[in-house]
Amino acid sequence: MNSARTLLSIKQLEIVYPSQEGHGYNTAVNGLNLDLAQGEIGCLLGSSGCGKSTVLRAICGFEPAHSGEILLRDKVVSSPSLHIPPNQRRVGMVFQDFALFPHLTVLENIAFGLQHLPHQERDTVAKEWLKRVSLLDKAGSYPHELSGGQQQRVALARAMAPEPDLILLDEPFSSLDVDLRERLAVEMREILKANNITALLVTHDQLEAFAIADRVGVMSDGKVLQWDSPYELYHKPMNRYIADFIGRGVFVKGFIQAGDKVQIELGTLELDQEHDGQVGDEVNVLLREDDIQHDDNSPTQAEVVRKTFRGADFLYTLRLKSGVEVFALVPSHHDHAIGEKIGICLAADHVVTFKD
Ligand code: ADP
Ligand code: MG
Repeated sequence: MNSARTLLSIKQLEIVYPSQEGHGYNTAVNGLNLDLAQGEIGCLLGSSGCGKSTVLRAICGFEPAHSGEILLRDKVVSSPSLHIPPNQRRVGMVFQDFALFPHLTVLENIAFGLQHLPHQERDTVAKEWLKRVSLLDKAGSYPHELSGGQQQRVALARAMAPEPDLILLDEPFSSLDVDLRERLAVEMREILKANNITALLVTHDQLEAFAIADRVGVMSDGKVLQWDSPYELYHKPMNRYIADFIGRGVFVKGFIQAGDKVQIELGTLELDQEHDGQVGDEVNVLLREDDIQHDDNSPTQAEVVRKTFRGADFLYTLRLKSGVEVFALVPSHHDHAIGEKIGICLAADHVVTFKD
């Protein structure tokens, strides 16, 4: 976090819940670290139960820190000896189900968090936010009269209206149609960026995380394993778990050669990251679906084992001579039958390798 100001900093955070049996506790967040700069959008990505919602609730002030600390603008708000209450943190939260008030109009929902303002001003500010999320014409509607995407924008406007320092969003798209999600993620990113709002969201959907966030943290077992840009996560995963979790790929066997190269069944690849291997060492080389290209003229052949039509391309599963199976994204006018042998070549730019 070089020049930009750090807004949120979490250090070695541990959150526990009392165990079901009544004695002892279960650890939900276990030594979590992350930093988010002013104006940045961060995303915690991980499978169900890994502790994502617990982290958000802790930042909001709904869960106490068992150990470690949470800082907002360099001020400790949570530690084992200090707990600033939620209403003094200047943190807004958008819940998974939006939690709009059903008996209040859209405008009233947004004005709800502005009780500190005089009545007239409350209305003006609420309308201003409705305009920013392009819903001014729905001011008098009730939540049930809106589509899911519109409700989500109301929830976002309601959280933003009191101008918190930080907005937290728990799986903000999970109750929406799949085809809406990516578009809304992009739209939400634009709204947050246009208003210079710092946000941290959680999701289990990788494409969503990549579409919206500047920084993504891959979570597992209550920890952030890697906190990086989507590009770095994809191309420079720190360990095998992240490499497996992000993108679609397989590991094939390779041998390190002189001059920072690695030899795999399909040919030789340049290593572009620092690797601690010696010449001759056996390593696992990550091959993603975009690292293998189809080329009718290539002498290297692989057999089509499976294929999935995805519109613009096919995702082929190909069996190499050795029996190893790899993925390849191929433009969909190359429609080959299962069992057919097709020519392939390597097109890997960022080669990721791990020792066993
Ligand atoms: P995620 O949002 O990633 O699905 P959560 O933060 O909701 O994960 O949960 C993390 C872990 O903490 C899970 O094992 C869950 O069962 C447990 N947990 C969550 N909330 C509570 C609670 N209120 N009481 C006890 N255990 C909880
Ligand atoms: Mg959750």
